Amino acid sequence: MESQKKHPKRFSFEFFPAKTPAGQEKLLTTAKRLAEYKPDFFSVTYGAAGSTRDRTKDTVLAITEATQIDTAPHLSCIGASKEEIADLLNDYKTHQIKRIVALRGDMPSGMGLATGEMRYANELVSFIRETTQQQFILEVAAYPEIHPQAPNAEKDLENFKRKVDAGANAAITQYFYNADSYFYFVERCEKLGITIPITPGIMPITNYTKLARFSDACGAELPRWIRKQLEAYGDDITSIRQFGEEVITRLCEQLLDAGAPGIHFYTLNQADPSLAVWNNLDLSNRR
Ligand code: FAD
Repeated sequence: MESQKKHPKRFSFEFFPAKTPAGQEKLLTTAKRLAEYKPDFFSVTYGAAGSTRDRTKDTVLAITEATQIDTAPHLSCIGASKEEIADLLNDYKTHQIKRIVALRGDMPSGMGLATGEMRYANELVSFIRETTQQQFILEVAAYPEIHPQAPNAEKDLENFKRKVDAGANAAITQYFYNADSYFYFVERCEKLGITIPITPGIMPITNYTKLARFSDACGAELPRWIRKQLEAYGDDITSIRQFGEEVITRLCEQLLDAGAPGIHFYTLNQADPSLAVWNNLDLSNRR
């Protein structure tokens, strides 16, 4: 973990673009609440194959204006042309956006294989660097539990390195509940000379059914002891949240104590679950 200890700690919150004006209003209220804790940045997801292209941009601009916190759009290259991406980058430059989360993305289910001029995230990172040089801080995705489509762990790590070599400044991981997977991933990165900050992405636990479905889809493991406990709670939301808060607080504490360079919270547009962990660990004073 030596490569990670030297980085200043950074704390960030991720949102998705709301579908309705009411959802948008609620999201801005959430962002304003979280902004009081002075996170290093917010980020806003990009729908599969560009399906939220304009909503992501509008949400980024609205949150930036409402909170004055650096807000990063996610941008995925799958299904997009270089021209479309270049236009979007230009827009972001004009609006003085500083940071982008650069991804390959996935095709929406049922839409078959990828189209577009760039097949993998390393190509997107290279394209952004070629066309806009050092204009943006580039975050990329990392997978301590291995990306579900990777043929094996070794190849996945090599592919992660391609993104770093192409010019990524930092990485955010897919969520995980097993800290060892993160420590082992960082060690393997260090052996390859990768020293950029690799921030753990943390998914609070608030709902069993959704979490189980989502974890299956993105290849994140929900450990048996967590699954069994959540199953036993059934519809008892209060107990699920209480248990989730304890598990996530412990996980974040373990990660930060070992030298992780911060935490990126997948908020699902809710402030309370992430703030509970933030307050339990007094993250404002752990920078
Ligand atoms: P890549 O790094 O391109 O990797 C994808 C797969 O291809 C891996 O299996 C890798 O091993 C392999 N690979 C990579 N490069 C090569 C190469 N050059 N040759 C051969 N194989 C290669 N999805 C969204 O749709 N919208 C979002 O906003 C979004 N935000 C995310 C944020 C974070 C922090 C994370 C961790 C994930 C996010 N995702 C999002 C999900 C992500 O888009 C998917 O996991 C997607 O399947 C992979 O994207 P990637 O950028 O990691 O792809």
